[in-house]
Amino acid sequence: MRNYWPFSTRRIRIELALIALFNLASFLLFVHFELFDKLDDWFHLHPDSSLDEVLLIGFTLALSMSLFAVRRLREARGLLRALRRQAERDDVTGLANRRRANQALQRETERSCRSGRRYSVLLIDLDHFKSINDRHGHQVGDAVLQRFGKVLQKRARQLDTVARWGGEEFIVVCPETELSGALALAENIRQLLLETDFSPASAVTASIGVATLADDDTPDSLVHRADMCLYAAKQAGRNQVVGDAGAASPP
Ligand code: GH3
Ligand code: MG
Ligand code: MG
Repeated sequence: MRNYWPFSTRRIRIELALIALFNLASFLLFVHFELFDKLDDWFHLHPDSSLDEVLLIGFTLALSMSLFAVRRLREARGLLRALRRQAERDDVTGLANRRRANQALQRETERSCRSGRRYSVLLIDLDHFKSINDRHGHQVGDAVLQRFGKVLQKRARQLDTVARWGGEEFIVVCPETELSGALALAENIRQLLLETDFSPASAVTASIGVATLADDDTPDSLVHRADMCLYAAKQAGRNQVVGDAGAASPP
């Protein structure tokens, strides 16, 4: 995974050294071309001018410091981006992390309250994932998680939040989606998994629990209902989708 940390004290030291060299070179050029004498002559010819050569040295210094400041500001922006990325992204898959998923759940619950349009969540757990780790090692397990993340992103809509909920469990938050639409998406994901090559791991399947926001739901209760459905899908033999029938009726 790419290193997103842009801050480097070594780079700052190098830039300061370059700026010092630049100022020294400017000074030597001024001396070499006798610019100070020429300026002196010019100031004598224009006695009403209050400028002196210190201003010119000040100018090169100000220019150097401005360049330095611009560089530092750009670095600070990069640093903020990196911090935000680390706060919101999962390191293994690059997907949104649980914190972002919780924010999406909160946001969608509030939006649903205002608009009256419900949203749904898919809670997805890879089947027998431990045996993939046991058979092929952790690195292959990580690669399976990454590929699985790509499958999810491929099938989800732009509007949906696809996140790693924890371990080998993922969540998709689908705004303005009724149970039927969410079930169709879940089935689509399950099918796509069967067609996806996860080698060297053999076929990877997933169990999916789907729930749609009900009137008295909070984000926690909604996820809990999806978790219950996921549990039912596991109990029923895995590699299947179970929806929360209780939420199927209109609000
Ligand atoms: P089930 O079908 O009941 O879900 O079985 P399972 O084996 O998928 O579930 P279990 O909870 O027994 O094992 C989950 C495994 O996921 C155990 C853990 O080591 C592995 N795991 C969790 N996070 C990571 C990770 O980031 N990378 C890898 N490679 N493995 C992980
Ligand atoms: Mg599992
Ligand atoms: Mg699990």
